[in-house]
Amino acid sequence: MAEYTPKERLARALRGEPVDRMPAVSFTQTGTVEQMDACGAAWPEANEDAEKMATLASAAHTELGFEAVRVPFDISAEAEFFGCGIKAGTKEQQPSVNTHVVKTMEDVESRKGFDINTGRIGTICESIKILADKYSELPIMGSMLGPFSLAQHMVGDDWFMAIMTEPDFAQAVMDLTIDFNVQYANKMVDNGADTMVIIDPTASAMLIGEEYFKQLVVPAHKAIVDAMEARGVTTVVHICGDTTLSLGLMEESGCTGISVDQTVDIATAKSKVSRATILGNIDPVAVLWKGNPESVAEVTQKAIDDGVDIIAPGCGIVSKSPNANLKAMADTAKKHTY
Ligand SMILES: [Zn+2]
Repeated sequence: MAEYTPKERLARALRGEPVDRMPAVSFTQTGTVEQMDACGAAWPEANEDAEKMATLASAAHTELGFEAVRVPFDISAEAEFFGCGIKAGTKEQQPSVNTHVVKTMEDVESRKGFDINTGRIGTICESIKILADKYSELPIMGSMLGPFSLAQHMVGDDWFMAIMTEPDFAQAVMDLTIDFNVQYANKMVDNGADTMVIIDPTASAMLIGEEYFKQLVVPAHKAIVDAMEARGVTTVVHICGDTTLSLGLMEESGCTGISVDQTVDIATAKSKVSRATILGNIDPVAVLWKGNPESVAEVTQKAIDDGVDIIAPGCGIVSKSPNANLKAMADTAKKHTY
């Protein structure tokens, strides 16, 4: 079979098309302390500076052998863009959202007409441009917080009550976040991203039930997926936790692949989807952080034997994970011919 560039191989594998072998990638954050020490670009600066962000993203390729580069490393820039407060990160910890700013319809209205070219969103897009100029053959993954979890960050804990008791308000917040996510995704693609990862941790049918998932989450993801498909860009949706029962609903957005965590049984997951590929599954804590290269290789091989389409961490890589473990996952993936 023809040799593919890593970019072609990933796009084809994501779409379930024939390829020579499995790509070695992560759809979730890749930054670790060992990579920071090796490449000289570290958190928290690498979350704020486009050059440093690109340097640390490159380390996943140069230090670990991953066949893609991906930014950013956290999921707080989106809420920060809309005015939420941020708890600063450290070298080992990503920044996180700590205040919520949307309580009323007026709060939503006042945030319409935003300028996508401002804030850390702009830095992330600049970093994508640097990576795209540097690597013509590697996939350039742009990642962003999904519209449902962004709405939750903006509203706070009241969000889950609001979707039940204030449907007009909830829909207005979602309309705002969808508009933002589509514009942001398009800007990342303008800058060179060819793979779009939507991290929507709390958009889980397990949390909100199937009806609300169908009503609020599926159309939101579909809007992003449609915009990306129109530009030939593949999409991956990641929702945390056991998503087994909602995988069929998740693929209704049209997303190319679904990233699942370690609580999802791969063989069962494969039986729940008709088209979308199933990705991920390696436990970032018990296996990739706390395990050793031998145990990582064993767990990775089991997920491959169970039929995972592309092996990857089941959620964000823990910053203290050893390079040797991450390499063991990548090396095991590369050995697999479909
Ligand atoms: Zn997750």
